[in-house]
Amino acid sequence: MRTLTRPATAGPVLAPDDAGYDAERRGYNLSVDQRPALIVGAAGVADVVASVRCATAHGLAVAVQATGHGPTVPADDDTLLITTSRMTGIEVDPVARTARVEAGVRSGALVAAAAEHGLAPLNGSAPDVGVVSYHLGGGVALMSRQFGYAVDHVRALEIVTADGHLRRVTAGADPTADTELFWALRGGGKGRFGVVVALEIALHPVSRLYGGGMHFAAERSAEVLHAYAEWTRTVPEEMGSSILLIRMPDLPFLPDELRGRYVSHVRFVFTGDAADGERWVAPFRALGPLTDTVRGMPYGEVGTIHAEPTAPVAFHARNSMLRTLDTGTVDTLLALAGPDAHAPFLVELRHLGGAAARPGAVPSALGRRDAGFCLYSGGAVTDDGVDALRAALARLHEAVAPWGTGGACLNFLAGPDVTEEQVRSAYSETDLDRLAEVKRRVDPDDTFRAVVAPMSAEGSR
Ligand SMILES: Cc1cc2nc3c(=O)[nH]c(=O)nc-3n(C[C@H](O)[C@H](O)[C@H](O)COP(=O)(O)OP(=O)(O)OC[C@H]3O[C@@H](n4cnc5c(N)ncnc54)[C@H](O)[C@@H]3O)c2cc1C
Repeated sequence: MRTLTRPATAGPVLAPDDAGYDAERRGYNLSVDQRPALIVGAAGVADVVASVRCATAHGLAVAVQATGHGPTVPADDDTLLITTSRMTGIEVDPVARTARVEAGVRSGALVAAAAEHGLAPLNGSAPDVGVVSYHLGGGVALMSRQFGYAVDHVRALEIVTADGHLRRVTAGADPTADTELFWALRGGGKGRFGVVVALEIALHPVSRLYGGGMHFAAERSAEVLHAYAEWTRTVPEEMGSSILLIRMPDLPFLPDELRGRYVSHVRFVFTGDAADGERWVAPFRALGPLTDTVRGMPYGEVGTIHAEPTAPVAFHARNSMLRTLDTGTVDTLLALAGPDAHAPFLVELRHLGGAAARPGAVPSALGRRDAGFCLYSGGAVTDDGVDALRAALARLHEAVAPWGTGGACLNFLAGPDVTEEQVRSAYSETDLDRLAEVKRRVDPDDTFRAVVAPMSAEGSR
């Protein structure tokens, strides 16, 4: 066993035998079992700098974890894991309509801080997801059809790179601005170029929305999914939506009409006039939902709409970007994930298009925007075992491939089954070369190697 000199930090430094090691390494997705040589619970930028320098001095890889919602490769005894959950600073500038967000901030905290000023970030569905990594992976926001991907609204990144230095990276014209790294981090930066200690993002003047969710009974699934597919072809860009097909767990706190039952859940986030929103959702109300939480609400309540589970769970996932959702796609989904399929996974379709199909104002590595929908599927490991779950997920994505763009949604590539090929599918060949070039320059020794990456420092992609 190697002897490691621990970095001098304000936050805790934990080796496998130390009390607190297990609690610190564990994140939301338990299917990736982090067992690093050392964990540093960074209390601030100085701790991150000290940790990266310590890791490179010992030849260790550096991995980062904020919440554990999106890990891919488990940190091993060749790795120092920096946890950022203590770095929770948020500064909102209501005049400039920007926020500076530290590495450990979760989405719900940022939504709440912005809402105090009548502003909103381009957050995703789950309040517990980490803001920084969500942006680095693109950020499929609930308002993406109106404003684009979250990553298009990043103004600056503060990053500690493998040389142990803190850099501020912007698109700016000043000679110190590393515009290539700015391009690469936005869409290609999850765990690959350094530890992003803070982001500066634009906020949007959205203080209210008309939205919520409606659950429908199993026997209405086909009708609802076909209606949803048709409806998405008609809605304006101010309407964001998704549909979930799921067998709800048999848990006592769930209402009787949902508990243990197969349901579809249609979710809406409409930022236009509430009366218009009511008209847009009327066709679903007419289908007789089991539950209906759709109403005018302050934007600060947006996190209640998807109501995803918050307790840590071991899950495996796959996703595909779809060009369209036509009758054939819907029938295929119903055959493999409908109420009679008894699939061991849930399926979710997020409506993209609109501004999410257009390039951002400042180009980023999130280049492929050719999808109309993101199809996500994920399941907890059941009694049938992980191989049965993997095989069922693979069958689903092979079956929908005729409607696919050939690409994957980067942010939903999480868990132990993510492959290099899947990550590469999110980029164009030209962008892969460009990412490899930035990697060679910024991290020549591949210190940030504890992720599934489409490129390495050696350019061996
Ligand atoms: C329930 C749920 C809902 C979700 N909803 C959405 C959604 O609506 N839209 C969407 O786009 N995505 C969504 N995601 C995906 C999520 O955005 C990504 O998995 C994201 O990477 C999670 O970031 P995290 O910090 O929470 O997780 P972590 O597991 O802590 O981080 C994921 C990876 O990011 C890297 N990383 C973390 N912090 C840093 C840092 N400071 N610097 C550099 N690299 C870092 C590391 O490589 C790490 O392994 C969802 C995921 C879940 C589980």
